[in-house]
Amino acid sequence: MKEKFFTRTLLQWADEGNLRRLPWKETKNPYLIWLSEIILQQTRVEQGTPYFLHFRKTWPTLQHLAKAKEDQVLKAWQGLGYYSRARRLLACAKRVQDEYGGRFPREYEELLKLPGIGPYTAAAIASFAFDQAVPAIDGNAHRLLARVFGIDLPPHSAEGKRAFRQMGARLISKERPADFNQAVMDFASTVCKPKPLCENCPFSQACTALLENRIAELPRKTPPKEKKKRFFYYLFIHLPFGKYHPIRQRPGGDIWQGLWEFPLIELPRPLKAARQITRTRAWKELGLPEVAARICHVHPPLKHLLTHRELHIQVLEVEAQALPEPLKTTCLITDTKNLPTFAWPKPLEKYANRK
Ligand code: SF4
Repeated sequence: MKEKFFTRTLLQWADEGNLRRLPWKETKNPYLIWLSEIILQQTRVEQGTPYFLHFRKTWPTLQHLAKAKEDQVLKAWQGLGYYSRARRLLACAKRVQDEYGGRFPREYEELLKLPGIGPYTAAAIASFAFDQAVPAIDGNAHRLLARVFGIDLPPHSAEGKRAFRQMGARLISKERPADFNQAVMDFASTVCKPKPLCENCPFSQACTALLENRIAELPRKTPPKEKKKRFFYYLFIHLPFGKYHPIRQRPGGDIWQGLWEFPLIELPRPLKAARQITRTRAWKELGLPEVAARICHVHPPLKHLLTHRELHIQVLEVEAQALPEPLKTTCLITDTKNLPTFAWPKPLEKYANRK
């Protein structure tokens, strides 16, 4: 297929009123464009939209967000997952405020230097806010371009990245780069979906994947890496003087940095029965044998998947006569009714929000 035909046809499709109307589309404000792009990374539009609206209301400008506390941002982010994105969002707001006088740079290369902004997000901001002709290549663009042009390379391989970037650069309209990037995303999300609607597609006469019956093969999948398994036993400790519980903030350098959790015992392998936790060294390290502590309830195990991890989590409720000494230095003691005010990792939310 001729590249000019692709660009012309796609923009025509956009001009026929097919672009999706979303709250962040009708703006050239780089702050709102950046905010929506960060929120929507690895998140569906339906899920991300209420978060975008909440962030926009709470922090209407970059200057407001740059002054926010990390805890507030993590709390507002709760439920979206991938919390490192929320931390980088705040770091980026502060950097733009401090180093760029509160204004996002216009150039793609300069945007790439900011925390949390990768090639796709930099291209989206540069094109949507500043009309720079830089193709925004995400998973949607990979699917559409791989199928139409028969690009037979895994998009995340070095070769694949180069091929898709070069193809995007040849296709993008220099006159209407924002419309072009938007049209690629929307066309791939609504027509060239994983299960495509080829009968409604203006490229059907020339699409390589359709003509060669290779839709299921394209885009090429990257073989998944094996996820590392981790085994978390959480102690939801009830202290004797009322409804109080020790909780702690997760340290840096690991998953869920800055979020809150119950005292954790992580083991290299699973126990046959969670109650056996009392026999582990980690139980002793928490100081639990020294105080009268008994397991009063064992919740069913659950599996939680992250990008590179498979977490096996079990929550045990423990009645303790006193706060174990080692926990005094690492934990904060809080009331049951305050538990929901902290930012928790997704699998612990239901315990923290329990009435
Ligand atoms: S013909 Fe089908 S596979 Fe090809 S671009 Fe259109 S929707 Fe996608």
